[in-house]
Amino acid sequence: MKPSSAASLDTVGQTAQDRSDARDARDHRRSPLRIERTIKYESDRRVGFGREVMSVPGCEQLENCIQCGTCSGVCPLSIYMDHSPRQVMALTRADFRDEVLRSHTIWLCASCYSCTVECPQQIRITDIMYELKQRAISAGIYPRRFPIPVLAHEFTRMVRKHGRITELVLVIRLFLKTDWLAALGNWRLGLDLMRTGRFSLLTERIKHHGDIAKMLDAVDHPPGPAP
Ligand code: SF4
Ligand code: SF4
Repeated sequence: MKPSSAASLDTVGQTAQDRSDARDARDHRRSPLRIERTIKYESDRRVGFGREVMSVPGCEQLENCIQCGTCSGVCPLSIYMDHSPRQVMALTRADFRDEVLRSHTIWLCASCYSCTVECPQQIRITDIMYELKQRAISAGIYPRRFPIPVLAHEFTRMVRKHGRITELVLVIRLFLKTDWLAALGNWRLGLDLMRTGRFSLLTERIKHHGDIAKMLDAVDHPPGPAP
């Protein structure tokens, strides 16, 4: 006797429960009110990370965050962020280092300071975002091919090397490291900027540019206390 189609499927391993789960998953994808559950594991924490951030001058007040959400409410960019500013504050304080440093939020922050002005606990959220950006670059775990951290990295690299930036080289390196196809769509703008002298074809550098590197090294690695 020819088996029914349902029986055929069961013989290749798909049970009634599988079909029900697949149907639920399909409905779940279609639902406009999709709710994602995220579970935080203790093993994802880098114990001490929050304390480290709060030990930086200007970031101490994070300890007093009451999770009121005012910062997220006033942030003009929070709708584009993967974690709201309030969540970034909570994750930082709770030691979820990698999740915070991989987040796009810290790079989307436009430093408008609205959150800092409105925070009822006087937490300097914008400065904490800067601190997190620096840590993400130092740790090398910022989102790859995301233009803002690449721009920040290339900018400081050129300043360290030449004492100033050369816009043309900076833009070329930015496109090459993020989305080189986008450069094709901007060639006319680049040409106009070169024609009007806004883009120099020569590498620009200041006199004694080695001193800049020494100053930046001193900031990155301050000398310890005298014995
Ligand atoms: S506004 Fe201030 S206190 Fe409220 S969640 Fe944001 S950081 Fe915390
Ligand atoms: S400083 Fe950054 S996080 Fe704060 S409101 Fe402005 S864009 Fe949002």
